[in-house]
Order: sequence, then structure tokens, then C-alpha cells
Amino acid sequence: MSHQVCLLSGDGIGPEITHVVQEIIDAAGVKIEWIPCEAGLSAYEKGGDPLPQATLDNIRTTKLALKGPLATASGTGFRSVNVSLRKELQLYANYRPAKSLKGVPAPFKDVDLIVVRENTEGLYSGLEHTVVPGVVESLRVITEAGSRRIAEFAFETARSLGRKRVTCIHKANILKLSDGLFLDTCNKVAKDYPDIEYDDCIVDAAAMKMVLNPQQFDVLVMENLFGDILSDLASGLVGGLGVTPSGNLGTDAAVFEAVHGTAPDIAGKNLANPTALLLSATMMLKHMGETEAAKKIEASLFSVLEEGKTLTGDLKGSASTTEFAEAIIAKL
Ligand code: NAD
Repeated sequence: MSHQVCLLSGDGIGPEITHVVQEIIDAAGVKIEWIPCEAGLSAYEKGGDPLPQATLDNIRTTKLALKGPLATASGTGFRSVNVSLRKELQLYANYRPAKSLKGVPAPFKDVDLIVVRENTEGLYSGLEHTVVPGVVESLRVITEAGSRRIAEFAFETARSLGRKRVTCIHKANILKLSDGLFLDTCNKVAKDYPDIEYDDCIVDAAAMKMVLNPQQFDVLVMENLFGDILSDLASGLVGGLGVTPSGNLGTDAAVFEAVHGTAPDIAGKNLANPTALLLSATMMLKHMGETEAAKKIEASLFSVLEEGKTLTGDLKGSASTTEFAEAIIAKL
């Protein structure tokens, strides 16, 4: 059976890494009809819209997308397409596993945690205004409904993966109303999952514990900004953004993407590491029910990483993007 998946190649290294990921999926025997979709700086330069309506319509139809990184200017310019995509498609759950990989230099071994981040609320609601010149205000929106659905997602994920514990990360000691509501809602949801252990931790203490002893964590659930920061911190524990995948899931669609950016310094040079996007793609394959193919690809990738003979520059190797991909395909 052929699946339809939207492909947002993205900017910078995006086209190079999405291309090899397509080749690896094809070599694993999964039949995908890729629907190319425009987004990001390239779409903006072509048609004046960084997130064309046709792209949103296509993703709503296929309900699935694989996305390369998109360039966003800081401070000025168009609103982040990543943020807009998550809001438009109500991709409320960002799912980011951080797992140690043999052969990938990292500060820790045996880390295996999952950050579940609320993707649509908090400070990323995009509600900012100038009160008077020199004074700006950003609104941090937390709702009971939003907190409930992300808490339920975290517990359902933990249950389906056989995980033991969910930890709610918050700052309810200071943000008594907003994070008070988030924590209170997580506490209530936890009661519906008596088979899963539950506790909570204040965000600053959680950051310290993660860099001292990350193995103590299992599934962590948190609001948007804390999730943005701690999920990158978690990536650092296992070797950086080049090896960490992510999925953005909602009721109507799912978008899988690497968490790194467009790497303008190495774009177009066939030097980028496609691991993060490939692991995002295997996450997508599992979501589509192609679990065997996903496991086959992961086994080949892990074997190439562990052998250490064909690694890209970021992993202290000298292989090109295409050589790395060819080594994975040879193992399939
Ligand atoms: P970046 O992740 O692009 O680059 C940081 C460093 O990591 C660079 O040295 C880069 O070469 C390296 N790197 C990143 N991915 C790599 C890979 N796959 N293989 C090898 N090395 C890799 O971060 P940045 O420079 O802060 O951002 C550049 C652009 O990307 C900005 O426009 C930013 O808005 C955008 N961005 C997009 C996303 C996304 O679309 N999800 C995420 C982060 C940043």
C-alpha cells in the first residue's frame, strides 16, 4: 500500500537531508507518494507567503508531513512558520525523545527520556503589544483544556510505550495562577492513570537534575517555553541537535521534523548529518503503522553510528551526507 505524505524540504540543509531520508525510506521498501509543499524563506521569496494555504490544505488532506528546517529571522520579518504550522493545524503535542546512541559523542550514557511539550499556548501564543514606547508585554496563556490534553497525551504516550513515570515540570511556586492551573490539571489527569507513577518538579530544579543525573527521568510534561528550553537541553545530553528527532501531533495531523535549524554555514556542501531527520522519519513510519521498516532503518543507522567508520563532520567523521546515507542503505 502506498501512503501519501507531504514533504516540506525546507531551507538551508533541508533539501539535502530530506533527499537522502527519502532514499533510505525507499530502500527500506516503504512506498510513499511524496507531495512536495512550499514553506519557509524559499516560499516567501517565491510567492510572498512563508506558509501558503496550499501547503496547509495538503497537510490537512494527507494528515502527515515530514519537514526540513525553515529559516526564521529573529526580531523582525514574518512570524515563525514552525509556530504558525503548529497553531494552524493544532499540533498541540511536541514529542521529543532523547536517547543515548552508541558511537555518538555525548556527555552521558544510558539517557532515555521523553520531553512532551505543549505546543500551542504559553508565551508562544503570539500575543505581544507595546504598552507605551519602551514597554512591551507578552501574554503567557495557559488554559485548563490545553493543559488537560497535553497531560493526557503524556500519560497515553507513557502507557503505550511501557514507560513507568510521568513528571510534570512547572513554576507554580511563582506563577501561581498560570502554572498553578497547569500543575493542578496534571495532578487531576494523573489520577486516571494509576498504573503510571507521577510526580512534579519545579523547572529550575529540573534543569539542574537533568544535567547532574538525567537517567532519573522518564517522561516529562511541560508548557511551551519550558519545553522549548528543556528539550534542547535534553538533546545536548545525548549528543546535540544533529541526532534528536521530534514529532508534532494533533487531532487532525502530525508533522515530523528534526529539531536543528537550517545550518546556513554548511548548507549546499553535502556535509549535513541527516540522523535527526531520519529518526523523525522513523517516528513517522511507526505512526503510520510501518513499524517493521522503521525498526530496520533504525538498526542500520545505529550500526553505522556504532561502527564509526562513515560519520559526518559534526560527529568528528569526514563522510559526506550522501556517503553516510549510502552506508545506511548498504546495511538495510
Ligand atoms: P542551526 O541548528 O541551524 O545551527 C547551529 C549549528 O549546528 C551550526 O554550526 C550548524 O552547522 C550545526 N548543525 C545544525 N544541524 C546540523 C546537521 N544536521 N548536521 C550537521 N551540523 C548541523 O541553528 P541556528 O544557526 O541558530 O539557526 C539557523 C536558522 O535555522 C535560523 O533561521 C533559525 O530560525 C532556523 N531554525 C529552524 C528550526 C526549525 O525549522 N525547526 C529550528 C531551529 C532553528
